[in-house]
Amino acid sequence: MIDPLVKSFEPYRVVEGNYRIRLDKNENPYDLPDWVKEEMFEELRELSLNRYPHVTSMPAREAIADFYGLSPENVAVGNGGDELIGHLVRLFRGNHVVVTPPTFGMYTFYARLNGFPLVEVPLREDFTLDGGAVAERSKNAKVIFIASPNNPTGNLQPEEEIIEVLETGKPVVLDEAYAEFAGKSLWRLIEEYPNLVVLRTFSKAFGLAGVRAGYFLAGEEVVEALYRIKSPFSVGVMTMAAVGVVLRHPALMEKRVAKIIEERERIRRKFGEFTYPSDANFLLMRLNAHGFLLKRGIVVRKLAGRLEGHIRVTVGRRWENDELIRALKDYLEAEGCG
Ligand SMILES: *Cc1c(COP(=O)(O)O)cnc(C)c1O
Repeated sequence: MIDPLVKSFEPYRVVEGNYRIRLDKNENPYDLPDWVKEEMFEELRELSLNRYPHVTSMPAREAIADFYGLSPENVAVGNGGDELIGHLVRLFRGNHVVVTPPTFGMYTFYARLNGFPLVEVPLREDFTLDGGAVAERSKNAKVIFIASPNNPTGNLQPEEEIIEVLETGKPVVLDEAYAEFAGKSLWRLIEEYPNLVVLRTFSKAFGLAGVRAGYFLAGEEVVEALYRIKSPFSVGVMTMAAVGVVLRHPALMEKRVAKIIEERERIRRKFGEFTYPSDANFLLMRLNAHGFLLKRGIVVRKLAGRLEGHIRVTVGRRWENDELIRALKDYLEAEGCG
């Protein structure tokens, strides 16, 4: 009864259970303060919850467009960045989807779900993008996905390599889910490259992972195409209200980003030998410590394939990072490297 393609998917494996310290999903460790939530409640009071949300999410698109000084015609909003990725694999003409592993798994997931062939162009040894190799293998590409900063490696990709890919004229989704932590973004290139789509999310720096809101910035033609195929009401009125409120308080986001970066570097200094530099809110570590940490009540992401034996650790609150550091020191001691 069930399609074999569907059967071939592994369930998305999240570690369930009541662990004390969750550092596995790259969430923001800080919830919004009550005064910001109060502003959301005020917005809610004015909303008609019996009515469907605006079909093309205009209230949220206008708020995001104002934030960047763009037109709403350059902004598309989705139920998380994930929903938009699901649509972006289908939007463009061409044969295959290009990905650059090790990278975010959702590009492959949605390509496979749609039955599109995949072309994998691995990142270099140091996890930088090989723009020439991607361009070479994109002659018949529908779309090319590049994450910068990349998940799970944490590094920003060099601008010249990204430009080399953009110069092919093929549609490029530049996934900047962690751009606020890198302090660098290439979103302005959408004016120069109509084939560029810059994907962003409210789940990480803005701390709204539970609300489900993502967006992309692109040329009008791409945005218009997206709204032809998107589920009309996937972005609810409460989500749009929450987005409007957090965008009114960028200083709060920036303060938290600064704190997370400070903590990230504190952890990195302690385990420099085993830790890669990061431009995001997580660290890639060459430590096979997933099981050890789990026993200490700390959940991190266990990696596989080329990153077998590595973990991805989200930067948490200070006390959580203190416990992580303590546990990792014990791990190294137990392994005889302490
Ligand atoms: C978290 C993340 C996203 C978007 O997540 P949503 O919560 O669906 O908005 C997109 N790309 C990468 C690389 C991510 O890590």
